[in-house]
Amino acid sequence: MYLSSSRSPAGLIAFSTLALVGCNETSETQHKHVEQTENSTQTKQTKISEGIDLSMFTEGAFAQPPKIVDCTTSEGTETMCYQFVTSGAPAGREPGPFCPRNTSDGAEAGGGWFNKEGSGDLVDITGEFILKLGEYYGDEKWLVYDAKTNKVRYTATKAACLGAARPDVEEQYKQNCIECELAYLDDDFSLTYLIPTTPIPAKKSSRVHTVGIALDGAELSGPAPVNAILGSYTIAAFDDCGGHINVHQGYHYHSTTGCTDKAVQTDDGHAPLIGYAADGYGIYAMKNAEGKEESLDECRGTTDEIRGYHYHAASPSENMFIGCMHGETVRPAGPPAGSPPDGQRPPEAK
Ligand SMILES: [Zn+2]
Ligand SMILES: [Zn+2]
Repeated sequence: MYLSSSRSPAGLIAFSTLALVGCNETSETQHKHVEQTENSTQTKQTKISEGIDLSMFTEGAFAQPPKIVDCTTSEGTETMCYQFVTSGAPAGREPGPFCPRNTSDGAEAGGGWFNKEGSGDLVDITGEFILKLGEYYGDEKWLVYDAKTNKVRYTATKAACLGAARPDVEEQYKQNCIECELAYLDDDFSLTYLIPTTPIPAKKSSRVHTVGIALDGAELSGPAPVNAILGSYTIAAFDDCGGHINVHQGYHYHSTTGCTDKAVQTDDGHAPLIGYAADGYGIYAMKNAEGKEESLDECRGTTDEIRGYHYHAASPSENMFIGCMHGETVRPAGPPAGSPPDGQRPPEAK
């Protein structure tokens, strides 16, 4: 998948590959996928709906009607891709709330954040959570509120959002609950994604920074740089849906908490669809109707006779959706002038 933002040369951003590291499936596992696919193809009455079904997206997910265009994958395969253009906002709802305003505020006033265990549900960002950050992280330096007024320190302006939502947080924006608004995006902000119309299994699984696109059109992003965030005594608050805003990616998810879940019309109790990965395979919720998980490969994928190859998302606090890309993804042959070299993203990243 290839993504560009219309405004910045930064644009290619999200599309830079993180490098083909780790997560290489064993040839044995790959073999199994192939066999399974062949087997299910032989069962003629079974229709495999592998890849993107446009009707699953929320109305308003795209800024322009999706188009089908020629594209070339990173692996050099010439194929056809959907070209999705989004406005950087989730369709059908207003993002937020993110940061509570007062240390006495309850869960409804704030969103969520990765819990320190790194798996399971997000922790609610309540006033009390802000108050007890030092205790929570075992570091008494945390002070994200004014001890006299009990007001939570949060990024209330565009300048503060820009200063705080970057890896090298300016001193004055440390000790802040970070939140940004969609209003801070440029007027003609847009993001473009290219995703193969028919997924192509890759010889080797890979990792790309942008994981994919949720059914509401918002980006499913790569991992948030949690160490840098916490190291600056900041919380890059999510809303209860597991997403937050920056000026490079608009509203984007780091976690899936059910907000984009869409039940698929099958009666096998399979987990709901949440979005599509950059390689075109579907990403489903972690658990099925009975609360059970399927057995998955390193990419968090599996194959069945109805959906073909597909992924199941990790739990909300794992700071990831899938383990790696099973299929080929598209990125530009060469970055346009002015854009950062591959792998070097502009200050995002939160
Ligand atoms: Zn499944
Ligand atoms: Zn982020």
